[in-house]
Amino acid sequence: MSRSLRHEFDAVIIGSGGAGLYAALEASRVPGANRTAVISKLLPIRSHTGAAQGGIGAALGNIEEDKPEWHAFDTVKGGDYLVDQKAAAILADDAVQAVYDLENRGLPFSRTPEGKIDQRRFGGHTRNFGEAPVRRACYAADRTGHMILQTLYQQCIKNEVSFFDEFHLVDVLIEGRKCTGVVALELATGDLHVFASKAVLIATGGFGRMFRTTSNAYANTGDGPAVLARRGVPLQDMEFFQFHPTGIRGMGILITEGVRGEGGILRNRHGERFMEQYTPTLLDLAPRDMIARAILTEIRAGRGLLGDPTQDDYVHLDATHLGRDVLDKKLPDISDFCRTYLSLDPAEKPIPVQPTAHYGMGGIGTDLEGRVVADGQGGLYDGLYAAGECACVSVHGANRLGTNSLVDLVVFGRRAGRHMSEFVNQTDSSAVSADASAWAQELMSGLSKQQGDEQAEKIRMSMKAIMMDAVGIYRRGDEMAEAVTTLQGLRRATEQVHVGDTSKAYNTDLLELLELGNLLDLAIVTAACANDRKESRGAHAREDFPDRDDDNYLKHTLGWLEGDSVRLGARGVDLSIWEPKPRQY
Ligand SMILES: Cc1cc2nc3c(=O)[nH]c(=O)nc-3n(C[C@H](O)[C@H](O)[C@H](O)COP(=O)(O)OP(=O)(O)OC[C@H]3O[C@@H](n4cnc5c(N)ncnc54)[C@H](O)[C@@H]3O)c2cc1C
Repeated sequence: MSRSLRHEFDAVIIGSGGAGLYAALEASRVPGANRTAVISKLLPIRSHTGAAQGGIGAALGNIEEDKPEWHAFDTVKGGDYLVDQKAAAILADDAVQAVYDLENRGLPFSRTPEGKIDQRRFGGHTRNFGEAPVRRACYAADRTGHMILQTLYQQCIKNEVSFFDEFHLVDVLIEGRKCTGVVALELATGDLHVFASKAVLIATGGFGRMFRTTSNAYANTGDGPAVLARRGVPLQDMEFFQFHPTGIRGMGILITEGVRGEGGILRNRHGERFMEQYTPTLLDLAPRDMIARAILTEIRAGRGLLGDPTQDDYVHLDATHLGRDVLDKKLPDISDFCRTYLSLDPAEKPIPVQPTAHYGMGGIGTDLEGRVVADGQGGLYDGLYAAGECACVSVHGANRLGTNSLVDLVVFGRRAGRHMSEFVNQTDSSAVSADASAWAQELMSGLSKQQGDEQAEKIRMSMKAIMMDAVGIYRRGDEMAEAVTTLQGLRRATEQVHVGDTSKAYNTDLLELLELGNLLDLAIVTAACANDRKESRGAHAREDFPDRDDDNYLKHTLGWLEGDSVRLGARGVDLSIWEPKPRQY
């Protein structure tokens, strides 16, 4: 009997990271009563959420006084006031219950001697509206994301969620403003499957692979936002991409902020704690954009370890004074990374670090229930949701605080899942046309028949270099305008890549070409939006416009991909709680 390549579900979720799994858990709350499927190109527990190290922020106040209101304020200030403030308040309020829910579902958090969930410091988290650092990050050693993923996956299995592992999203079916399903490629067979669904949630994670040095996994190629962008959905705030200050030199592998949370110190070639000059109150625990820029400023002034800004210079992260006991107990994976990748014992020698492309604050715009934004006037898509790193709700604004992504996944993954389950109960079954997979079919067969002598790897390396150099930590208009043109040329060059492998099963050459196209589409939108924002805010630091300009740019950017160009629009920021102020620490 041949297998069916057509499926029907109430809710289909693309992505099995923290956001997708939490949404699936909520959407499937009554097992068997409504049918939920999770489609994932990876095996669920290999999702990038599993790499999250440092912690999940929640104002439990277990170690010292803390309040959700302070957490929300830090989130807004850390995001340089581009955060939607009601969303930040929900994030901070719901974080507390979300952490206890995870604990009740079996997540093994690290504990205080009295048995409470332990908490450590993280950048930008303060008490009493910026007075001093506070311990807000709940953690499970330096394997917090791994534990979240395991816990949620087990719960989804219990709720009888159907998993389609190693299925790759190729198209989202949208008619007008209504979503009716998706088309996905089964990696093991090369077959295209059509999933009709009343509601679809996109939770495909980040897109850091567009940069040369990145902490992101190979799979983080932004497929969800790219597929939607090609279907006419606008992307929001794509110009804001966070560089984490401490990636392992030359490799980008992340050294969690938890190291500085436990007391680690950044030092230049003279051994100086240079953050004293930049953010005297929060020092090494200032927001990430500020520290990444401080590191680059030290390097440019010849105070990197090599003393030569023209080389691939770096600074030191000194954790030697923390002692072997703290490193072994609280940061075991980090110690292991240092031994494996650097042949270095962090208890004895400082770690060589450089900023690494880490997190996309922008993505698919949504309302507070995860419904996808269609325009700048409050229009929404019907039955189409997004959550997690690929979405922009927006709680991170121009710069995300550490530990706030994991909170975003569970808080807004849950809200979107809840809304989906109500929505599907009030909605008739979704019908998709007989030729629903025609577009995807044409795309895949077109890619496999391409002729030409361009090489995907060369195009990929060029994209990464341009994004790093022209759309990285510091940016300038002339360079970004040129970057857009070059990226458009690279996008056209992907049409001249010949895929030598003709097999149907696990054709990774074909998949990588598909992913490269996705990354390039998002890179074009990122560069175009960044060039359009003529101010500096959060992670978007322009040398030609060094000041924040609230009069003209206190607004979300919307970018519509049209062919290989970008049409720009805007959406208001929710400023209903706090007045924007200069960001000083
Ligand atoms: C090294 C590292 C450490 C981090 N540490 C922290 C931390 O301590 N605290 C914190 O708050 N944040 C941290 N972050 C950020 C945070 O982990 C991520 O933003 C978050 O986990 C993303 O979760 P997600 O559910 O959105 O996506 P992911 O966990 O990335 O999952 C994406 C899912 O989408 C699926 N998918 C993608 N494309 C397709 C497709 N085409 N078809 C089908 N499926 C697809 C994948 O298979 C995967 O299941 C860290 C990030 C990194 C890279």
